[in-house]
Amino acid sequence: MKIGVIGFGAAAIGFIERIKDSDHEIHILEKSKDIYSSSISGIRADGKLFVSNQMGGELDLDLDLQKRLVEFYIDQTSERSYESGSSFGDKEYYKNFYREGFQPILSDFYHLGTDQLKEVLFNLYQKYLKYKNIHFHFEHRISNVEIRNDQVILNNSETYDMVIVAVGRSGHDLIRSILARFPELILDNTKVDLGIRLELPNHIVEDLNREMYEFKVKYKSVTGYMVRTFCNNPSGYVVTEKYDDFVTVNGHSKLRQKSGNTNVAVLTTIQLTQPFNDPISYGTYIAKLTNILAGQDKVILQTYANFKNSKRTKNLYRVEPTLASENYITGDINLAYPRRIVSSIIDFIENLNKVIPGIANDDNLVYAPEVKFYSNRLCNQKLAKLKFAGDCSGNTRSIIYATAHGWITAEKILNPQDE
Ligand SMILES: Cc1cc2nc3c(=O)[nH]c(=O)nc-3n(C[C@H](O)[C@H](O)[C@H](O)COP(=O)(O)OP(=O)(O)OC[C@H]3O[C@@H](n4cnc5c(N)ncnc54)[C@H](O)[C@@H]3O)c2cc1C
Repeated sequence: MKIGVIGFGAAAIGFIERIKDSDHEIHILEKSKDIYSSSISGIRADGKLFVSNQMGGELDLDLDLQKRLVEFYIDQTSERSYESGSSFGDKEYYKNFYREGFQPILSDFYHLGTDQLKEVLFNLYQKYLKYKNIHFHFEHRISNVEIRNDQVILNNSETYDMVIVAVGRSGHDLIRSILARFPELILDNTKVDLGIRLELPNHIVEDLNREMYEFKVKYKSVTGYMVRTFCNNPSGYVVTEKYDDFVTVNGHSKLRQKSGNTNVAVLTTIQLTQPFNDPISYGTYIAKLTNILAGQDKVILQTYANFKNSKRTKNLYRVEPTLASENYITGDINLAYPRRIVSSIIDFIENLNKVIPGIANDDNLVYAPEVKFYSNRLCNQKLAKLKFAGDCSGNTRSIIYATAHGWITAEKILNPQDE
């Protein structure tokens, strides 16, 4: 078969690695200029490979396959140097969180680092170039996908027997246009994560940061909503993130420059049912409302005590914000956020304080809006010739899960009887 793979990211790598020794003719169509500008999105951050049954995506993935894929990535480095560890390797931490109602998220992590992951991508490219049945096409953005006479037509001109769409989140324009044509592919689009970013002095979470770098816990709050921590940045910085017509908060940590604060997102997952079908608009409107209150292109900053008591913050006390002052105003997030979301977040933080004393200090900082959108979950059974792999399918959110999804997609082509 002549197979087109749109995108050269983690999912494409898993797919190619599994199918490379077959007779299929593989064409990789990547919008980036060349291999140097192409990226697994994760290499823009610090390139951590997670092995877990509890995070990384919605797929039920064999741990052995995940470990094999970690090894596969490590094998592509010249030095094989990496840091590794386990979340909640220390059972005392596990028990303390569990006792207070939290679900600790278990994972092993392997930290290759940005530079090595870049090397991995380049080495893989070099390796695949040697295969006669694999063809790379850079600067090749796909903007149109059609199915005619059992063939997939890309950009109105290129014909394939089968196409794997592996465009990650950055390919949302293409996914939107495919879904306009095939709306029946959408399985589920009812979820959005709305919350705040909490910033506090490092010393409060220092032991925890040392133990597991990124602690992840979930919690069923009084409102019934699940609340979770996400994107923990020890010694990090709060930043704003611009979308087309609104601004949210985010956090990151730099390799060399360190701050005295840790920031972490506290997110409430909103999952509504019929007739609701537009989580993106729901999240967007709340984010925009927060921006309107803060003044154009700004976010709201509030002390935790004021957030709890719905009072406008006028003065800060001991915790110095790491977000540049031109990006926020001090105000009251309660004017923009629905009560059920605020109650869920407060319940989460108050209970977390029993495990991490100081996390609910009055003068800790709360920023909003923090919004995480989910990709639509797409059905891979409806169209025989067009499949979706990795983050764009709504099934994965990590390098290893996306790679595994690509791998499994190839496996199903090679062994269709196993489906
Ligand atoms: C800043 C950041 C940091 C992250 N850090 C980590 C981490 O440390 N560990 C981890 O496990 N996960 C991390 N992730 C998530 C991880 O990168 C993704 O889950 C994973 O890369 C998804 O793989 P994918 O193949 O689905 O998409 P991607 O790896 O994003 O690849 C998609 C490819 O498709 C190309 N493309 C897009 N649209 C088109 C088009 N129309 N035509 C042609 N080509 C197109 C893109 O250029 C890209 O090369 C991070 C994500 C981000 C954004």
